[in-house]
Order: sequence, then C-alpha cells, then structure tokens
Amino acid sequence: MPGFELFGEQEKKEVQQVLDTGVLMRYGFDGMRDGKWKAKELEKALEERMGVKHAQLVSSGTAALTIALASAGVGAGDEVLMPTFTFVASFESILALGAVPILVGIDDTLTLDPEAVEKAITEKTKVVMPVHMCGSMADLRALKAICEKHNLLLLEDACQAIGGTYEGKPLGSYGDLGCFSFDYVKTITCGEGGAVITDNDTFYKNADHYSDHGHDHVGLDRGAEAHPFLGYNYRISELHAAVGLAQIARLNDFLAIQKETYTVLREALESIPEVTFRRVPNGGEESYAFLSFFLPDAILAKQAHTALAANGVDACFYWYDNNWHYYRQWEHLLEKKSLGKLPTELYKQLPDYSIIDFSKSDHWMGRTVSCLIKLGWSREEVSNRAATMVKTIRSVVKG
Ligand SMILES: *Cc1c(COP(=O)(O)O)cnc(C)c1O
Repeated sequence: MPGFELFGEQEKKEVQQVLDTGVLMRYGFDGMRDGKWKAKELEKALEERMGVKHAQLVSSGTAALTIALASAGVGAGDEVLMPTFTFVASFESILALGAVPILVGIDDTLTLDPEAVEKAITEKTKVVMPVHMCGSMADLRALKAICEKHNLLLLEDACQAIGGTYEGKPLGSYGDLGCFSFDYVKTITCGEGGAVITDNDTFYKNADHYSDHGHDHVGLDRGAEAHPFLGYNYRISELHAAVGLAQIARLNDFLAIQKETYTVLREALESIPEVTFRRVPNGGEESYAFLSFFLPDAILAKQAHTALAANGVDACFYWYDNNWHYYRQWEHLLEKKSLGKLPTELYKQLPDYSIIDFSKSDHWMGRTVSCLIKLGWSREEVSNRAATMVKTIRSVVKG
C-alpha cells in the first residue's frame, strides 16, 4: 500500500516549486505565489479521479472524517454507527464533535454487517459510517438502502481503499460523503493529509469553511472575510499538497502493481484447501492494498501469523489482538478515559460495551490474517514470498 516506497523526481519537483515561491499556505498571498496553487490543483485532480463535484483537502484523514460529520450538521448527542474493526480515527472524529460512536459488528466482508446496522438504529442515529478496511469495501448497496429507509447519511471511510470501486464508482463517491487519508503509510501520501469528497454543494461549502476557522473565502482580503459559523483549523500546507499532487498522478500505476502482487499471492494461497478469503461484495473491486484470508479457527490463524513472521514474511497482521484496529483493545474508549470531562450526552449515551455481544465480529476477526501488499517488491521477492507463505501455512494447518 505505501506510496512512500516509490518517491521520486515528480514529488521533488512539485515541492521545489512551492519552495521557490516561498508561499507555504494554501490560501491568499496571490501576488507572491506565481500561479502555484498545489492544494487547489490536488482538489481538482481528486474531483476528476473520483468523479465527484467537490473535494476538500485537509490536514489528515481523521480531520477529514471530523469535517465530513461537521459539514452534515452532526453534533452533541447524535449517534454515528461505526464498525468494530477500523482504525481509532473513526471514533476520535465522532467524539471530537461531542457525538456518540456506536460500535456495530462486522461480517465476512470484514466491514459493517448490514443486519447489525439495522438493529443498532435508534431515533438518535444520524450517520452510518462504513470503513473500507484493507482495500476492500462494505456492502454499500445494502447500507445505502438502510440509510434511505431511515433517512440517515452514508459516510464512507475509504482511507485504506483509495482506487477500489463499487458498482463502477470509486470508493468514497458512493455515499453522501467520502473520506481519504494521505498519511505516510497510505497508498498515496502527502506526508500528512486527507480529503472529503461529496456531490452535495452545502456539505462542501460547510467543509470548506469549517476546515479554515469558519472563513467564508469570499473576496481577496482574508482578514475581512466573514465567519458564518464556528470552525477550526484543519488546513493542509502547500508543501504537503505538492507531494500529493505528484502521488495522485501515479495512483493508477500503484494500483496496477498492487493488483499484480495480490494476484500472485492469492493464487498461491488458493492451493491450500483450509484457507478461504475475505468476501468482496458483489459489484466491488478491491484496491488490492492487502490480501486478507481466513484460517479454519482462531488458534490456527494466530499460529499462522506467528509462523509467517518467524519465516521472514513481514507486514502481515493478526488484527484480533491489535491495539489500534479492533474494539477488544480499545479500553480507552470502552472505559471513557478522557483527559478532561466528556460532554454529558456522550457520557450518558455511550453503550456499556462489556455487555454487548460482538461474537460474530470475533468469529471472523479471530480467523483473519491480513498481509500488506507493498509497492517496492521485485517480482522475485513476490514469488519467493508466495512460496514461503504457502509452505508456512501448510505446515501450520497440518499441525
Ligand atoms: C489512516 C486511517 C484514518 C486516519 O487517517 P490519518 O490521516 O492518519 O489521520 C482513518 N481511517 C482509516 C481506516 C485509516 O486507515
């Protein structure tokens, strides 16, 4: 997945242009900037690549999620449904607004289980937030139908799946709002950065203002601009945007490399009858950022993960025990360990997760091993890796 593996001359050239003008900020300084608007250019490139009306570039993927929620009017007491398997950014972005993260189980897609979503809806629910983990997507058709039935917003977290598609549409563009991260380990990177995409003019306008202290961006004098509502600073710098501009031009090449490597590894693992693969919903095509597969049970999965690492197969994950990506280790959320006091609505509405049954999530997550697909591997490294993976996993399942 990581675009940083393939840094090159284009990235340097884009950054150098910014350094030559000396204008590191994305807004203003029109006279000094010699026509260079890297953030605006990257927004335009994203709009084109994703087939949407609007893109708002911001400082991180977490910021993008926060802004997406804020742009749709989500606030204190509103409930947002999010999966048990994701990155902590999902609940951080919800908490930042005083809204309530409601954890919902996953199925064999390793993303939101539509049945569990339907059951979790209350009169306070505002948003369903599927997270397209490890390069593949949630069952967006089913989730959209649920959202339409209950008048909820569909917000896609496509931070780990940029370039994947569902029913021919780029991931992130299917719901009402979509978010990307361009942090250092994502498929394409700005160093740090993120984006919100949408076709909704109001959400876009709100995102544009909210991410820059509420500035309405009308006129040519920043100091004289109006502030129609409260905002915050989630701006990206021109230096970061410049890196992303070079990287987005290479996205299709990165995706082609990921697909080729994924295919070699997958075909190799298909020779093992005990190994099955994560379900990709009908109509979906992965970004191939990871290869995720199931072992027959949790003990074998854990053993396979340990044995893979011991045999030099790096970058494989056993998410079930992971500190950052699965609810079991999120004791800071589950025990409400905040520095200051949490908003009252939030404190009262947060469910007692110690009594909620996530056994279906545990069933799938416990059996899952996910291997990152790196961009920098040579063909030879990939075929050696495939052979080692097959040998290692065979020896584990044979006991
Ligand atoms: C990386 C990531 C984010 C957050 O992005 P940052 O840019 O690191 O803040 C959010 N969601 C998912 C699924 C991610 O992988």
